[in-house]
Amino acid sequence: MTSPLSQGSIIGIIGGGQLGRMLSVAASQLGFTCHIFEPGAAPPAGHVAHQVTTASYDDEAALRAFGNAVDVITYEFENIPTEALDILQEFAPIHPGREALRTSQDRLTEKTFLRDLGLRTAPFADITDARSLKAALAEIGTPSILKTRRFGYDGKGQARIDSPDAASAALDALEGAPAILEGFVDFSHEVSVIAARGADGAIAAFDPGENLHKHGILRTTTVPARMSQAQRTDAVLIAAKIANALNYVGVLGVELFVTPDALIVNEFAPRVHNSGHWTQNGCAVDQFEQHIRAIAGWPLGDGQRHVDVTMENLIGDDMNRVPELARSADCALHLYGKSEVKPGRKMGHVNFIKRS
Ligand code: AMP
Repeated sequence: MTSPLSQGSIIGIIGGGQLGRMLSVAASQLGFTCHIFEPGAAPPAGHVAHQVTTASYDDEAALRAFGNAVDVITYEFENIPTEALDILQEFAPIHPGREALRTSQDRLTEKTFLRDLGLRTAPFADITDARSLKAALAEIGTPSILKTRRFGYDGKGQARIDSPDAASAALDALEGAPAILEGFVDFSHEVSVIAARGADGAIAAFDPGENLHKHGILRTTTVPARMSQAQRTDAVLIAAKIANALNYVGVLGVELFVTPDALIVNEFAPRVHNSGHWTQNGCAVDQFEQHIRAIAGWPLGDGQRHVDVTMENLIGDDMNRVPELARSADCALHLYGKSEVKPGRKMGHVNFIKRS
C-alpha cells in the first residue's frame, strides 16, 4: 500500500459539477488542494477548487499536463472516455479504479457482474434488435423496462413496455442504441446505501436512505429508511461485496429496491451520490470527506448517523424558495452557485434536520 497523501498534495477531479465542488470543499478541509478537469466553462467546482483545466476529454496535451500536476485522480461522473483514462493512468493513480468504471458504465456488464456475485437483480436480457426484444419479452414478460446500456441517467434513455404490442415503439424511442430489457420489480420503496472502502480494504457504510424520485430525478432522501435491522445489514453487506469484488477505493452508492422477500440491486455509482448528501448534516464525517480520506490513503472516518435527516434537492424554480428556507430553523442549505436556472437542473439541496 502506498503511504497516505501528505498535506498540500493535489487531488485531480474529473468533472466540475456540484459533486466535484463538494469534494473540493472536503479536500480543502483535510489540507489538500484540488485541480478540476472539466470541458464546460465556469464549472461550479471552479469556485472552490485551487485550479481548473478547461479542455475536452480528447485533448491529449491537456490531459497529460493535468496528470502531471496532480498526486491522485478521482472523478465525479462515470462516463469518462476510456482513451482519456489510458492517458491519465500513466501519471497518477486513479481511484476508484478502471474496473469499477468499466463495470458501471454499461448496464449489461453491471447487471451481469451483480448477478455473478450472487446478488439479486431484476431479470434482464441483452437487446440488439426487434427479434431479441421479442424473445426477451416472451421470457421476462410485461411490464418491463427497456433501457439503453450506456449514458442513461436520471431516468433518461428508458421506455416502459406494458404489453408486447408496445415493443416496437419502445425500441424506436431508444433510436437504435444498444439496450437491455429489465423485468419490472414490484418494490415497496427505493433505498440506497453509500459505502466507502479504504486503500487497506476497510469498509464503512452510512445508514441506508429512502429515496423518492419524481420524473426520474431524485427528489428526497430520508434517513432512517423504512427497513428492518436485517435489511439494513443486508444492504451494507451488498455494498461491501460489490466494493471488495472491484478492489474498490473510494465511496460508492448502491441503489436498491425493497421487496417483501429481498433487496434487489438496481445499480451502483462509483462515486459520491446525490442520495448521500444528507450525510453533510447527519454525520461527523460526510460522504465527501470519506471519499477524500479513502483516495488519500487515510483511515476512514466515523460515518455514524447522529440525527434524522430529509435531504431535498432544489431543482429549477425551487430556487425561489431559498429566501424562505434560509429563514427556517433546522434547515441546512447547500447551493451550487449555478447562475442559470433551468427546468430539471439541480441547483442545490437542503438538509432538514429532525431532532428527537
Ligand atoms: P435507473 O436509471 O435504472 O436508476 O432507473 C430510474 C428509476 O426507474 C428507478 O429509480 C426506479 O424508480 C425505476 N426503475 C428502474 N428499473 C426498474 C425496474 N426494473 N423495475 C421497476 N422500476 C424500475
